Amino acid sequence: MDEFTRDLFRELFTPAGEKAGAPGQEEVQAIKDLLKAAGEQDLTQPIVDLFAMLRRIRREKGYTPADLGIEEPDLMALAEKHQELDEHRVTIGGRVLRALSIVQEANERAMDYMRRHPREAPSGVELWNSIREHQERIKKVLGMQQEDWDSFAGQLRYAIESVATLSSLLDLPEKAVADIQRVTGQYRMRLTPYYTSLIMPGVLNDPVLLQSVPTGEMVDNVGEEIPPVAADHSPARLIDQFYPRVATIKATNMCAMYCTHCLRIAHIGKKDRIYSKNAYREALDYIRNNPGIRDVLVTGGDAFVLPNDLLRWLLEELDGIEHVRLKRLGSRIPVTTPQRMDSELLDILEQSNDRKPLRVVTQINTAQEITPISREAFKQISRRVSAVLNQAVLLRGINDTPVKMWKLCETIQESHVRPYYVFNCSYRNPQFAHLRVPVTVGQDIIESMYGNISGDAIPRYIATAGGKIPLHRSNVQRRENGHLVLKKPWSGEEVKYPDVAEEDHADQRFAFAKYTMPE
Ligand SMILES: *Cc1c(COP(=O)(O)O)cnc(C)c1O
Ligand code: SF4
Repeated sequence: MDEFTRDLFRELFTPAGEKAGAPGQEEVQAIKDLLKAAGEQDLTQPIVDLFAMLRRIRREKGYTPADLGIEEPDLMALAEKHQELDEHRVTIGGRVLRALSIVQEANERAMDYMRRHPREAPSGVELWNSIREHQERIKKVLGMQQEDWDSFAGQLRYAIESVATLSSLLDLPEKAVADIQRVTGQYRMRLTPYYTSLIMPGVLNDPVLLQSVPTGEMVDNVGEEIPPVAADHSPARLIDQFYPRVATIKATNMCAMYCTHCLRIAHIGKKDRIYSKNAYREALDYIRNNPGIRDVLVTGGDAFVLPNDLLRWLLEELDGIEHVRLKRLGSRIPVTTPQRMDSELLDILEQSNDRKPLRVVTQINTAQEITPISREAFKQISRRVSAVLNQAVLLRGINDTPVKMWKLCETIQESHVRPYYVFNCSYRNPQFAHLRVPVTVGQDIIESMYGNISGDAIPRYIATAGGKIPLHRSNVQRRENGHLVLKKPWSGEEVKYPDVAEEDHADQRFAFAKYTMPE
């Protein structure tokens, strides 16, 4: 017997100073039944249940097993039987005193999340009935047929670009309508009907609404845009290169939906462009002439905006370069317009992946964006490529609590997508400064995941400031009035990273909420 079992027996058989109410008739019968089952069956569970029950009665009522007519040697025989039966020779004391209470403590950590997630962060799968109703309404108002809805071309043809159309589909506050009108003079808005259907009507600051419909802040936020210095990182036409072994081809400036928090807001969506073959050839030549480049990321905009023929050609060209060993395609389309994933495109992905590993990198920011339709799209993609990875952006009111982020990471993992990065929202663009989240809030969220959800559902927390810089605490050197000092791991260089004040972040009156909440 080990020490846990000795402790258990000591606890059970030490007479209590005072007894509190005798065990009831039912309890006595239950103990009899368990004793019989424990003796007769070659199972561990009746033995465990018996000891757990005897322990509870001793604790709550002060009755020892002896008081109930059970002798110590009989129980000892059952304890030995338990250890004999168990393949890993776990003792009854180890199981009852240690394991059960450790598991119970762990369960309690998750209970709060389990209670809260369906209400605070429902997935699109859980909301599917409401989304379906919303879809029917949208189809009717826009005059879409089912076949329009089910095709990528139809989704783009009926994309919502005007405030008038948007407000015929969503009940927006009057002041919001005026503001969106004002903002869309300067910034483009486009939502596919499908993505619009994920917005829960009547929910202030709905997380899908916040990501897709611009608010007054976009033009009113003070501050100056610090555009990414293209000249610093673009050694050739369409190419961005921060790292020696990874290069990016920005293959288009188009997306199916334009995000309010887009890092490339200065370049994306002003005017739809797919570039000339000459531009792609020059980009490919640069890669061909630089044998250090091993991994090529085709992005945009959105790589799946490219027509199938062009995508096939680009991938074939890349696969034909000896030193290119892997590719990635960056796309949000499986989330915003999963109708794009036709069988020809899936075949193109599979053929390229057969030649050299291909990954798809996507951006899902809330569990609400995963519906049975996008889940199916990701399942299809994941069958054909090496990995589907998610790069989320940490956004105020959208995914900035542990419950929301755990739910996002679990939901995408259940949808064949691996959490990869969580980006702190960039400080370079005043347009979405109101969506930023303090670095410590992000650190707390990521750290809260350890020990609570599957390890491979925990993303890395990253700042983009001249490359991707890890935001875990040991990489933040210090705080200097309002900004952090981060260290670039590859050069040791220290960079200033402006942070957001906690009180600004806590203020609920922003975006759509500010139109309806009292001052
Ligand atoms: C994000 C990014 C990459 C890829 O970085 P990983 O850390 O390998 O995912 C490469 N080039 C540029 C310009 C990037 O922005
Ligand atoms: S999908 Fe990406 S590139 Fe396109 S608008 Fe959104 S964040 Fe920007």
